[in-house]
Amino acid sequence: MYPPSFRYYRASSVAEAISLLQREPEARLLAGGHSLIPAMKLRLASPPALIDIGRIPELRGIRRQDGGWAVGAMTTHREIEFSELPLLAEVAAHVADPPVRNRGTIGGSLAHADPGADYPAAVLALGATIVAAGPRGQRSIPADQFFQGLFATALEQGEVLTEIQVPALGQGWGWAYEKFPHPASGYAVVGVAAVVQAEGGVARQVRVGVTGAAASAFRPQRVEGALAGKALDEATVRAAVEGAFDPGQLLSDPFASADYRAALCQALCRRALLRAWQRAAG
Ligand SMILES: Cc1cc2nc3c(=O)[nH]c(=O)nc-3n(C[C@H](O)[C@H](O)[C@H](O)COP(=O)(O)OP(=O)(O)OC[C@H]3O[C@@H](n4cnc5c(N)ncnc54)[C@H](O)[C@@H]3O)c2cc1C
Repeated sequence: MYPPSFRYYRASSVAEAISLLQREPEARLLAGGHSLIPAMKLRLASPPALIDIGRIPELRGIRRQDGGWAVGAMTTHREIEFSELPLLAEVAAHVADPPVRNRGTIGGSLAHADPGADYPAAVLALGATIVAAGPRGQRSIPADQFFQGLFATALEQGEVLTEIQVPALGQGWGWAYEKFPHPASGYAVVGVAAVVQAEGGVARQVRVGVTGAAASAFRPQRVEGALAGKALDEATVRAAVEGAFDPGQLLSDPFASADYRAALCQALCRRALLRAWQRAAG
Protein backbone atom coordinates (compact mmCIF):
# COMPACT_ATOMS: atom_id res chain seq x y z
CA MET A 1 0.00 0.00 0.00
CA TYR A 2 1.23 3.55 -0.74
CA PRO A 3 1.29 6.13 2.05
CA PRO A 4 -0.82 9.29 1.66
CA SER A 5 1.14 12.19 0.12
CA PHE A 6 3.23 14.36 2.43
CA ARG A 7 5.55 17.35 2.30
CA TYR A 8 9.26 16.51 2.63
CA TYR A 9 11.99 18.64 4.23
CA ARG A 10 15.63 17.80 4.81
CA ALA A 11 17.18 19.47 7.88
CA SER A 12 20.90 20.14 7.88
CA SER A 13 21.18 20.91 11.60
CA VAL A 14 19.27 20.21 14.83
CA ALA A 15 18.35 23.92 15.01
CA GLU A 16 16.82 23.72 11.53
CA ALA A 17 14.88 20.54 12.45
CA ILE A 18 13.47 22.31 15.52
CA SER A 19 12.50 25.36 13.50
CA LEU A 20 10.83 23.17 10.84
CA LEU A 21 8.90 21.37 13.60
CA GLN A 22 7.62 24.76 14.81
CA ARG A 23 6.51 25.61 11.29
CA GLU A 24 4.95 22.15 10.74
CA PRO A 25 3.73 21.03 14.20
CA GLU A 26 2.07 17.88 12.80
CA ALA A 27 5.23 16.77 10.96
CA ARG A 28 7.18 13.66 12.00
CA LEU A 29 10.94 13.36 12.06
CA LEU A 30 12.32 10.79 9.64
CA ALA A 31 15.38 8.90 10.94
CA GLY A 32 16.02 5.39 9.53
CA GLY A 33 12.37 5.14 8.48
CA HIS A 34 12.14 1.47 9.49
CA SER A 35 9.24 2.00 11.88
CA LEU A 36 7.71 5.19 10.47
CA ILE A 37 7.54 4.25 6.78
CA PRO A 38 5.90 0.83 7.38
CA ALA A 39 3.36 2.58 9.66
CA MET A 40 2.65 5.14 6.91
CA LYS A 41 2.29 2.45 4.28
CA LEU A 42 -0.23 0.66 6.48
CA ARG A 43 -1.88 4.09 7.08
CA LEU A 44 -1.43 3.72 10.80
CA ALA A 45 0.34 7.09 10.62
CA SER A 46 -0.44 9.86 8.13
CA PRO A 47 1.77 12.84 8.94
CA PRO A 48 1.28 15.78 6.55
CA ALA A 49 5.05 16.35 6.46
CA LEU A 50 8.32 14.52 7.13
CA ILE A 51 11.49 16.23 8.35
CA ASP A 52 14.48 14.12 7.37
CA ILE A 53 17.20 14.26 10.04
CA GLY A 54 19.38 11.65 8.33
CA ARG A 55 22.08 14.05 7.16
CA ILE A 56 22.69 16.03 10.32
CA PRO A 57 26.36 15.40 11.19
CA GLU A 58 25.98 16.35 14.87
CA LEU A 59 23.46 13.50 15.39
CA ARG A 60 25.87 10.80 14.21
CA GLY A 61 28.54 8.78 15.93
CA ILE A 62 29.76 7.53 19.27
CA ARG A 63 32.24 9.49 21.37
CA ARG A 64 33.82 9.18 24.82
CA GLN A 65 32.43 11.64 27.34
CA ASP A 66 33.23 11.96 31.08
CA GLY A 67 34.58 8.40 31.13
CA GLY A 68 31.34 7.12 29.57
CA TRP A 69 29.90 7.52 26.08
CA ALA A 70 27.65 9.85 24.14
CA VAL A 71 25.77 8.11 21.33
CA GLY A 72 24.25 10.32 18.61
CA ALA A 73 20.57 9.68 17.93
CA MET A 74 21.23 8.87 14.25
CA THR A 75 23.79 6.16 15.08
CA THR A 76 22.61 2.98 13.36
CA HIS A 77 22.06 -0.36 15.06
CA ARG A 78 24.90 -1.70 12.90
CA GLU A 79 27.37 0.95 14.12
CA ILE A 80 26.39 0.16 17.70
CA GLU A 81 26.69 -3.59 17.15
CA PHE A 82 30.33 -3.17 16.09
CA SER A 83 31.20 -0.60 18.77
CA GLU A 84 32.72 -1.03 22.23
CA LEU A 85 29.58 0.24 23.92
CA PRO A 86 28.83 -1.84 27.01
CA LEU A 87 25.59 -3.81 26.75
CA LEU A 88 24.28 -1.74 23.80
CA ALA A 89 26.60 -3.55 21.35
CA GLU A 90 25.23 -6.91 22.51
CA VAL A 91 21.64 -5.64 22.34
CA ALA A 92 22.05 -4.15 18.84
CA ALA A 93 23.04 -7.59 17.50
CA HIS A 94 19.55 -8.80 18.52
CA VAL A 95 17.68 -6.08 16.58
CA ALA A 96 15.98 -7.49 13.47
CA ASP A 97 18.33 -8.45 10.60
CA PRO A 98 21.32 -6.77 8.89
CA PRO A 99 19.27 -4.69 6.38
CA VAL A 100 17.21 -3.17 9.22
CA ARG A 101 20.31 -2.73 11.37
CA ASN A 102 22.02 -0.83 8.54
CA ARG A 103 19.27 1.82 8.42
CA GLY A 104 17.48 1.85 11.79
CA THR A 105 18.79 4.20 14.48
CA ILE A 106 18.94 4.14 18.25
CA GLY A 107 17.24 7.54 18.46
CA GLY A 108 14.39 6.40 16.22
CA SER A 109 13.93 3.23 18.23
CA LEU A 110 13.82 5.03 21.60
CA ALA A 111 11.54 7.82 20.31
CA HIS A 112 9.17 5.26 18.76
CA ALA A 113 8.99 3.27 22.04
CA ASP A 114 7.60 0.09 20.50
CA PRO A 115 6.74 -2.24 23.41
CA GLY A 116 8.81 -5.02 21.76
CA ALA A 117 11.89 -2.88 20.98
CA ASP A 118 15.21 -4.03 22.42
CA TYR A 119 17.06 -0.83 23.43
CA PRO A 120 14.56 0.33 26.09
CA ALA A 121 15.60 -2.58 28.36
CA ALA A 122 19.26 -1.65 27.87
CA VAL A 123 19.00 2.08 28.57
CA LEU A 124 17.04 1.33 31.76
CA ALA A 125 19.61 -1.21 32.95
CA LEU A 126 22.49 1.12 32.09
CA GLY A 127 20.96 4.12 33.88
CA ALA A 128 21.45 6.07 30.64
CA THR A 129 20.30 9.63 30.04
CA ILE A 130 18.35 10.70 26.98
CA VAL A 131 19.06 14.20 25.71
CA ALA A 132 16.39 16.18 23.85
CA ALA A 133 16.60 19.59 22.18
CA GLY A 134 13.59 21.79 21.50
CA PRO A 135 12.45 25.39 21.13
CA ARG A 136 13.12 25.99 24.85
CA GLY A 137 16.64 24.55 24.75
CA GLN A 138 18.19 21.24 25.72
CA ARG A 139 17.18 18.91 28.55
CA SER A 140 18.34 15.59 29.96
CA ILE A 141 15.81 12.87 30.72
CA PRO A 142 16.84 9.90 32.89
CA ALA A 143 15.91 6.62 31.16
CA ASP A 144 13.76 5.79 34.21
CA GLN A 145 11.46 8.70 33.29
CA PHE A 146 11.56 8.35 29.51
CA PHE A 147 9.14 5.49 28.74
CA GLN A 148 5.57 6.44 29.55
CA GLY A 149 3.37 3.75 28.00
CA LEU A 150 2.57 2.17 24.66
CA PHE A 151 4.50 4.18 22.01
CA ALA A 152 4.64 7.05 24.52
CA THR A 153 7.74 8.84 25.82
CA ALA A 154 8.68 11.95 27.79
CA LEU A 155 9.62 13.73 24.52
CA GLU A 156 7.51 16.85 24.05
CA GLN A 157 5.98 18.26 20.89
CA GLY A 158 8.72 19.98 18.89
CA GLU A 159 11.63 18.16 20.52
CA VAL A 160 14.39 16.19 18.80
CA LEU A 161 16.11 13.35 20.63
CA THR A 162 19.77 14.23 20.08
CA GLU A 163 21.89 11.76 22.04
CA ILE A 164 22.01 8.98 24.60
CA GLN A 165 24.55 9.33 27.40
CA VAL A 166 25.87 6.05 28.77
CA PRO A 167 27.69 6.13 32.13
CA ALA A 168 31.17 4.66 32.57
CA LEU A 169 31.22 0.97 33.47
CA GLY A 170 34.73 0.00 34.44
CA GLN A 171 36.37 -2.83 36.33
CA GLY A 172 33.91 -4.96 38.28
CA TRP A 173 30.91 -4.29 36.05
CA GLY A 174 29.16 -6.93 33.98
CA TRP A 175 26.17 -6.94 31.68
CA ALA A 176 24.07 -9.25 29.55
CA TYR A 177 20.95 -9.26 27.36
CA GLU A 178 18.63 -12.24 26.94
CA LYS A 179 15.80 -12.18 24.41
CA PHE A 180 12.95 -14.42 23.33
CA PRO A 181 12.21 -13.07 19.82
CA HIS A 182 8.86 -13.32 18.11
CA PRO A 183 9.45 -15.92 15.39
CA ALA A 184 7.85 -13.78 12.66
CA SER A 185 8.76 -10.17 13.48
CA GLY A 186 11.94 -10.67 15.50
CA TYR A 187 10.76 -8.13 18.10
CA ALA A 188 11.12 -9.11 21.74
CA VAL A 189 8.25 -11.13 23.16
CA VAL A 190 10.35 -10.55 26.27
CA GLY A 191 13.88 -9.16 26.50
CA VAL A 192 15.84 -8.67 29.71
CA ALA A 193 18.99 -6.58 30.17
CA ALA A 194 21.01 -6.83 33.38
CA VAL A 195 23.89 -4.69 34.65
CA VAL A 196 25.74 -5.71 37.82
CA GLN A 197 28.62 -4.18 39.78
CA ALA A 198 30.60 -6.75 41.80
CA GLU A 199 32.74 -5.67 44.74
CA GLY A 200 34.21 -7.86 47.49
CA GLY A 201 32.32 -10.92 46.27
CA VAL A 202 28.86 -9.31 46.39
CA ALA A 203 26.72 -7.24 44.04
CA ARG A 204 27.03 -3.54 44.94
CA GLN A 205 24.54 -2.50 42.25
CA VAL A 206 21.99 -4.49 40.30
CA ARG A 207 19.95 -2.90 37.51
CA VAL A 208 17.51 -4.79 35.31
CA GLY A 209 15.44 -3.59 32.33
CA VAL A 210 12.57 -5.63 30.89
CA THR A 211 11.07 -5.03 27.44
CA GLY A 212 8.32 -6.74 25.44
CA ALA A 213 6.42 -7.86 28.52
CA ALA A 214 4.35 -4.74 29.24
CA ALA A 215 3.09 -1.61 27.49
CA SER A 216 6.48 -0.03 28.09
CA ALA A 217 9.85 -1.18 29.37
CA PHE A 218 10.26 -1.29 33.15
CA ARG A 219 12.67 -2.13 35.97
CA PRO A 220 11.61 -5.02 38.23
CA GLN A 221 12.69 -3.30 41.43
CA ARG A 222 11.72 -6.22 43.65
CA VAL A 223 14.32 -8.38 41.88
CA GLU A 224 16.98 -5.66 42.03
CA GLY A 225 16.34 -5.05 45.76
CA ALA A 226 16.43 -8.77 46.60
CA LEU A 227 19.89 -9.15 45.06
CA ALA A 228 21.77 -6.00 46.13
CA GLY A 229 24.54 -6.87 48.60
CA LYS A 230 24.50 -10.59 47.78
CA ALA A 231 26.63 -12.97 45.73
CA LEU A 232 24.58 -13.88 42.67
CA ASP A 233 24.66 -17.67 42.72
CA GLU A 234 22.06 -19.76 40.94
CA ALA A 235 19.90 -20.38 44.05
CA THR A 236 19.90 -16.73 45.14
CA VAL A 237 18.94 -15.45 41.69
CA ARG A 238 16.30 -18.16 41.25
CA ALA A 239 14.71 -17.18 44.59
CA ALA A 240 14.79 -13.46 43.69
CA VAL A 241 12.97 -13.88 40.35
CA GLU A 242 10.43 -16.48 41.58
CA GLY A 243 6.96 -14.92 41.44
CA ALA A 244 8.44 -11.46 40.81
CA PHE A 245 6.32 -10.76 37.70
CA ASP A 246 2.56 -10.30 38.06
CA PRO A 247 0.75 -11.52 34.91
CA GLY A 248 -1.98 -8.97 35.71
CA GLN A 249 0.50 -6.22 34.75
CA LEU A 250 1.73 -7.86 31.55
CA LEU A 251 0.65 -7.92 27.89
CA SER A 252 -1.30 -10.79 26.44
CA ASP A 253 -1.73 -11.54 22.73
CA PRO A 254 -2.46 -14.59 20.55
CA PHE A 255 1.24 -15.53 20.50
CA ALA A 256 2.05 -15.13 24.21
CA SER A 257 -0.36 -14.97 27.13
CA ALA A 258 0.43 -12.84 30.19
CA ASP A 259 1.19 -16.01 32.17
CA TYR A 260 3.66 -17.13 29.49
CA ARG A 261 5.28 -13.70 29.46
CA ALA A 262 5.63 -13.81 33.27
CA ALA A 263 7.40 -17.19 32.97
CA LEU A 264 9.68 -15.79 30.24
CA CYS A 265 10.48 -12.75 32.41
CA GLN A 266 11.58 -15.05 35.24
CA ALA A 267 13.69 -17.33 33.04
CA LEU A 268 15.38 -14.54 31.02
CA CYS A 269 15.95 -12.40 34.11
CA ARG A 270 17.74 -15.31 35.80
CA ARG A 271 19.89 -15.99 32.73
CA ALA A 272 20.78 -12.33 32.17
CA LEU A 273 21.65 -11.78 35.84
CA LEU A 274 23.84 -14.88 36.08
CA ARG A 275 25.71 -13.99 32.89
CA ALA A 276 26.17 -10.35 33.97
CA TRP A 277 27.45 -11.54 37.36
CA GLN A 278 29.89 -13.97 35.75
CA ARG A 279 31.30 -11.13 33.68
CA ALA A 280 31.42 -8.74 36.66
CA ALA A 281 32.99 -11.12 39.15
CA GLY A 282 35.09 -13.15 36.73
C1 LIG B 1 11.32 -6.07 9.68
C2 LIG B 1 11.66 -5.27 10.90
C3 LIG B 1 12.06 -5.92 12.05
C4 LIG B 1 12.38 -5.20 13.20
N1 LIG B 1 12.78 -5.88 14.32
C5 LIG B 1 13.14 -5.18 15.42
C6 LIG B 1 13.63 -5.86 16.58
O1 LIG B 1 13.80 -7.08 16.62
N2 LIG B 1 13.95 -5.10 17.66
C7 LIG B 1 13.83 -3.75 17.67
O2 LIG B 1 14.14 -3.11 18.67
N3 LIG B 1 13.38 -3.08 16.57
C8 LIG B 1 13.05 -3.76 15.47
N4 LIG B 1 12.62 -3.09 14.35
C9 LIG B 1 12.50 -1.62 14.40
C10 LIG B 1 13.81 -0.97 13.93
O3 LIG B 1 14.76 -1.14 14.95
C11 LIG B 1 13.62 0.54 13.65
O4 LIG B 1 14.75 0.95 13.00
C12 LIG B 1 13.46 1.43 14.86
O5 LIG B 1 12.41 1.06 15.71
C13 LIG B 1 13.13 2.87 14.46
O6 LIG B 1 14.28 3.51 14.10
P1 LIG B 1 14.33 4.37 12.79
O7 LIG B 1 15.63 5.09 12.81
O8 LIG B 1 14.04 3.49 11.65
O9 LIG B 1 13.15 5.45 13.09
P2 LIG B 1 12.00 5.99 12.14
O10 LIG B 1 11.18 4.87 11.63
O11 LIG B 1 12.53 6.96 11.16
O12 LIG B 1 11.17 6.82 13.23
C14 LIG B 1 10.40 6.18 14.23
C15 LIG B 1 9.65 7.24 15.06
O13 LIG B 1 10.56 7.95 15.88
C16 LIG B 1 10.54 9.36 15.58
N5 LIG B 1 11.94 9.80 15.63
C17 LIG B 1 12.97 9.25 14.94
N6 LIG B 1 14.12 9.84 15.29
C18 LIG B 1 13.81 10.77 16.23
C19 LIG B 1 14.59 11.70 16.98
N7 LIG B 1 15.93 11.77 16.86
N8 LIG B 1 13.94 12.52 17.86
C20 LIG B 1 12.59 12.43 18.02
N9 LIG B 1 11.81 11.57 17.32
C21 LIG B 1 12.42 10.74 16.45
C22 LIG B 1 9.94 9.46 14.19
O14 LIG B 1 9.32 10.71 13.98
C23 LIG B 1 8.95 8.31 14.20
O15 LIG B 1 7.76 8.71 14.86
C24 LIG B 1 12.28 -3.78 13.19
C25 LIG B 1 11.89 -3.11 12.03
C26 LIG B 1 11.58 -3.83 10.89
C27 LIG B 1 11.18 -3.09 9.65
